[in-house]
Amino acid sequence: MKFCEKDGNLLVVKQKKSGRTVLVCRKCGREYKQSGEKLILSETMHEPKKGIVVMGKDEMSSELPSTKIVCPNCENDEAFWWMQQTRTADEPPTLFYRCKKCGYSWRSYG
Ligand SMILES: [Zn+2]
Ligand SMILES: [Zn+2]
Repeated sequence: MKFCEKDGNLLVVKQKKSGRTVLVCRKCGREYKQSGEKLILSETMHEPKKGIVVMGKDEMSSELPSTKIVCPNCENDEAFWWMQQTRTADEPPTLFYRCKKCGYSWRSYG
């Protein structure tokens, strides 16, 4: 028997389309996956914040938002941007840019 960490309701087993089974709270809909005896909150429940994309800097940039900013490398005036948590969660995430033209990446200081 497992219980929801948020509201203490009994979790029920549910099979996903992928065939994977998860534990779901019938009250709040929170999903958990089982890893041994430890309950891990499923990543699928984390809704991405609007307008903020958190990703590694080496991932594809085709779906990133873009903005007007001058590239320090080739002086093109449009670049993709994303936020990235660099160190601890206490610090604000760093703003990164990637030039649409040459692919040069840099971070915003302020
Ligand atoms: Zn719940
Ligand atoms: Zn550039």
